Parts: sequence; C-alpha cells; structure tokens
Amino acid sequence: MVDFLQTPSLLSKGVYLQLVVEMKLLDDAIIRSNEPEEVLTCHYKALENRFIIPFRKVKGKLRRLVLEKQRSYNIQPDCALKDDLCLNCPSCLLFGGTGETSSVKAQYNILSRVLGETFISTNTVEGIRNYTQNAVGEKDLMTGQALMTILTVPKETVFKGVVTIKDPTQEMASVIVDNLKRLTRIGARSVEWGRVETIIVNAKLSDREDISVYNLLQDDESLTDDISIIENLPLVETAYATLNSQIPILLKDLIERRSPMKEKKSKPKEAAQTEGEEAGVE
Ligand SMILES: [Zn+2]
Repeated sequence: MVDFLQTPSLLSKGVYLQLVVEMKLLDDAIIRSNEPEEVLTCHYKALENRFIIPFRKVKGKLRRLVLEKQRSYNIQPDCALKDDLCLNCPSCLLFGGTGETSSVKAQYNILSRVLGETFISTNTVEGIRNYTQNAVGEKDLMTGQALMTILTVPKETVFKGVVTIKDPTQEMASVIVDNLKRLTRIGARSVEWGRVETIIVNAKLSDREDISVYNLLQDDESLTDDISIIENLPLVETAYATLNSQIPILLKDLIERRSPMKEKKSKPKEAAQTEGEEAGVE
C-alpha cells in the first residue's frame, strides 16, 4: 500500500500522486495570434483532431500561482520567476530550479517534483473560428495597418490532463491541489480571454505513473481510484509553513552530499527543466 512520504526526500522513493484535472473554458480562448501559440491542435490516430495545451503552459501558470500564494504568507517573498529563484522555498522545492541561474547563485540544482503531460480536449475539433480584428498602430492610433487573424477555441471546451507530484508529502499535495483550483485563465492573451474553471476529478497514489489522458479519453472505466486521498490534506497555509520549515534540513543534506564532489564540474544535464517552461508573463 503506497502512502504519502512523511517528510520531503532528496532521493526518489518512487511514489507518485497523480491528479486527474479537468479544465473547462468559460470563455473563448485564443489558440493562434501574432503572439506565441499556446493552445494548439493535434492529430491522434485514436482520438482524431483535438485541441491541446502543452504542459509547460499549465505548469508555468501553476508555478506562478504557487509563488503568489507563498508571498501572501510572507515566505521567501523575493523569490521570483524566472531568474530570481531562491532555491530555498516551497515553490522552488516543488518546481525546481538551476543553481547557476538563481539570484543566490546556489551550488545545487533542484529537480522538479511536479510532472505532467499534454492536456487534451475531451471533444474533437469541429471547426476553428476565425476572429479578425484590426491592428492599431501604437504611434498614430490608426487602424488597418495589419489585419490580425486570431483563431479561437470555443467556450465550454473541456480539457483533461494529469498533474503528477513525485515523492509527495501531504503538505506538497495540499499546496498543488489548492493552487490548481485557483487556475482560472489559460491561453494566449489571457488577460482578456481564456477564463477557465479547473477541477480535480480523480486522484491516485501509486508506485508508478499509470494514468494518462490519452488512455482516459478512450476508456473512461480504466480509472477506479478515488478522490478521497486528497480530501483530508493539511490546510494550505499550514502546508506552506510546514514545507518551509523542512527545507533547511533538506538543503543541508543536499549541500553535504555535494561537498565531496566539489572539484567536479556540475553536469548540465542535471539542471532542472525551467528552460522551456512558460514563465506566465502576461
Ligand atoms: Zn524560491
């Protein structure tokens, strides 16, 4: 019987908490504009054409929310995306970071404990609507200088995805579960578009990552586990505080572990994957 870890662990214990997430668009979302494409379409043999949201987009938003909430509790309030990571807070512990690029020039890297996969729409793409608007020149406020074509995903489209926490404690789960529910916007230009409602519909604690949206969308019966394992987690404020108090002990281990190898050059492949991740700057 797999259970939550009692305290965060540096070395992997092979425990995975998989959260099945449903994200419903309350508003049209932009999938293609002059700005970087963020919600896309993809063709699958078994699923045909679907809208997809790359996981780095979801993870970037989630990380931003976790950081905001952390600041509201005054825990490492100066930790910031993308180049001012402190590598010393609950958010950095969960999402990882590279020492070299951190503001503190830490001698260690932290691997991300939040894993995921592409979010896929539950329905096939039936038709992409064009939304055309005139670009307005910034200098003279004249319109018609360039015609922007924007493609939108229709409101009420539901995306499904799995967010996984590797080697989770109950506190880590509490932080991610709480902030996932606060994820209310997605897509390009999400200041004015892309309101979403995010709910966790199922959860599983396992010694492997055995849930995938690709399979879920083909066979809804394949998942029998239930949400109760995330229903009695510590309160989110307590969870942040507990995690924060556990970090110095964890980092002490990490630094001691590294010191005999001080002479060796750090291997870049160990760097956490913050590169391709969306910082979520609006
Ligand atoms: Zn941090």
